[in-house]
Amino acid sequence: MAARLIDGKALALHVRERLAKDSAALLAQTGVKPGLATIIVGDDPASHLYVKNKQKACDAAGIYIDDHKLPASTTQSDLLALIEKKNADSKIHGILVQLPLPKHIDSKVILDAVSPQKDADGFHPYNFGRLVEGHPVFEACTPKGVIKMIESTGVPIEGKRAVVLGRSNIVGKPLALMLLQRNATVTICHSKTVDLPAVCREAELLLVAIGRAKFVTADMVREGAVIIDVGTNRLPDGKIVGDVDFEPVSQKVGWISPVPGGVGPMTIAMLLDNTVESAKRIAGWK
Ligand code: NAP
Repeated sequence: MAARLIDGKALALHVRERLAKDSAALLAQTGVKPGLATIIVGDDPASHLYVKNKQKACDAAGIYIDDHKLPASTTQSDLLALIEKKNADSKIHGILVQLPLPKHIDSKVILDAVSPQKDADGFHPYNFGRLVEGHPVFEACTPKGVIKMIESTGVPIEGKRAVVLGRSNIVGKPLALMLLQRNATVTICHSKTVDLPAVCREAELLLVAIGRAKFVTADMVREGAVIIDVGTNRLPDGKIVGDVDFEPVSQKVGWISPVPGGVGPMTIAMLLDNTVESAKRIAGWK
């Protein structure tokens, strides 16, 4: 392998250690312990595992967890009432509603009901709008983690040709805006992009979030590029792979993130980061 590895697991550990110190100092100086409310509806095993992992990481970083596991039969109005309660709860600085929600609940209505001041996932339209105008408050966790991973390479973002593959509201679009804010020249690609390989080959920074196993092949990348792979795909044999064909691509590029052990751990670390930052803001602590 010619490329250097962007080790998301190690970076995330580093962030979590810093956050543990920050939250201990915040508690000692202001009496405020950062608090995250986690809300999960139904019994999807994958969602329960995700939330459990997030809670474990919070615990280690000195963040108080307010855990809500609701049955699949929970009504939209009951869920809205719980969110209202958490919005008003002074012990809570971040609210995480684990997706997907059951079909009878409108996710958009629920996510819009979370107070923008406690929007640890960064999905609220207010926070999305703040990012668009270039004054972000809460930034969505996955793209924020991707930016930290690029920064960890020491390759400057400013002036670079960045290509974002995927335009979802939770990854592609906010990531493109974060790169633009850092003065990259950004192209966003999607399923209707014509001659996608040619566009990808121009990228000095190639950020991939489409959910197609091993889609990006070695002939689609520029030599020396920085590649961050957001994709998480389960193969029929149960193996988890990214959207990038890791082995051949890593022979050609300068930096590459693995799957697993790349963006996933950084996404969790950024949820913690957003919660601690929120607690500091609410406590008026610098
Ligand atoms: P999504 O909402 O399904 O969006 C996928 C995007 O990829 C869409 O914009 C789609 O284009 C584009 N796309 C799909 N097939 C394409 C193709 N053949 N050529 C070009 N573009 C194509 O997905 P998402 O929520 O952003 O997630 C993307 C991947 O990241 C998934 O594997 C997901 O599991 C993973 N993910 C990982 C984390 C993490 O923490 N590790 C977090 C979030 C997501 P159109 O808009 O034209 O349909």
